[in-house]
Amino acid sequence: MDGALGDSFLIAPVVARKPPTAADLILRLLQATWRGYFVPVEALRLVWDESFTEYDFGPAHPMSPVRLDLTARLCRDLGLFSHAGIHVVDADPASDEILTTVHTPEYVAAVKEAGAAAWGTPNELMGLGTDDVPIFEGMHEASARVASGSRDVALAVWNREALHGVNFTGGLHHAKPAQASGFCVYNDIAVGIQALLDAGAKRVAYVDVDVHHGDGVEVIFWDEPRVMTISLHETGQVLFPGTGFAHEIGGSKAMGESVNLAFPAGVGDAAWLRGFHAVVPALLRAYRPEILVTQHGCDSHALDPLAHMALSLDAQRASYEALHDLSHELCDGRWVALGGGGYELVDVVPRAWAHLVGIAGHHPVEPSTRLPQTWRDYVMEAFGRQPPARMTDGRTGDYKPWHLGHDTGDAADRAIMATRKAVFPLHGLDPWFD
Ligand SMILES: [Zn+2]
Ligand SMILES: [Zn+2]
Repeated sequence: MDGALGDSFLIAPVVARKPPTAADLILRLLQATWRGYFVPVEALRLVWDESFTEYDFGPAHPMSPVRLDLTARLCRDLGLFSHAGIHVVDADPASDEILTTVHTPEYVAAVKEAGAAAWGTPNELMGLGTDDVPIFEGMHEASARVASGSRDVALAVWNREALHGVNFTGGLHHAKPAQASGFCVYNDIAVGIQALLDAGAKRVAYVDVDVHHGDGVEVIFWDEPRVMTISLHETGQVLFPGTGFAHEIGGSKAMGESVNLAFPAGVGDAAWLRGFHAVVPALLRAYRPEILVTQHGCDSHALDPLAHMALSLDAQRASYEALHDLSHELCDGRWVALGGGGYELVDVVPRAWAHLVGIAGHHPVEPSTRLPQTWRDYVMEAFGRQPPARMTDGRTGDYKPWHLGHDTGDAADRAIMATRKAVFPLHGLDPWFD
């Protein structure tokens, strides 16, 4: 892999579609890391093409592809697609061979049959044709394309063709080896992580900040010591899929490598960020991952219609910044960031993931930025509603760090402590003081 790194510095044969410009050469110099190596010219490989909107369960379903279209339009109108270091790529649907690294052949065959035509065959045992995962024509191709996008960027980051990778159309964390679940058909995250393992990765860390438990990814790597999964979510006592409690810590070969922080319903910015910082950095520093894969479901936002948390865009953005920083601190910048849930289609998802793209592309969007008039006009015309004005909810993202003390009478603090007690000792960490 280091060989690829050296090649890409000199002539970037894989990445550059055109001869490098003076701006590209300056960018490469600026991207010299503290170790004295040079990272690729490509700061970010970003998966996007309009064909990803074909992952569409129909007009009555909450996971409308409108959210992807509006996100891409906002990224473009903010100028993010035009930066020299941000490379937008399409993906072809993943082959059966790739999909069956994670899913059973019977399941892949059932998905194909379900989506073969408008009159395709449901398979409720495999979760196909339910209220959550209705079948639609082309379901296999659309889902396999998402999986391919996440796998491609994961391998591009691993091989040092790109520093960071983003696929906001991915993050389908509920899909199981032989079952569709929670709007997810193929588990693009697990397909990407499995490709990293097959490429030689020894330690992959996965952090999932979606408001729902990342159960599919957890179950697929439950007993896999080469993968640590950390999921922060609203408690399964009140929210789908009903799992993800602190005591779920992984199989006998990977004890302490499934980590769950189940927040009480209603938690806001300060408590959520306090929990994030009390759990994620210490565990990642102990595990020393070679690459960081993150899932950025933004359904933890106060306006999301499917959950009961009260985060702002600013807290979500703060978590993206923190994960980006951790990837540089621990993994030489190897970071693959994926989308996920998010059902407030206009006010929340586009702004959240435009921030993610900006941060991963090393062109972060200032929270005070006004939304481009072109995007606002489009929203007014297409949806007849007032679009948000700025890239912020006006919050600060402030929180009280754990080391300043905790309150056993506070439900969020009790949840944080339960997670720390369940897994910290397995990593040589102290649940009270680390
Ligand atoms: Zn970076
Ligand atoms: Zn979700």
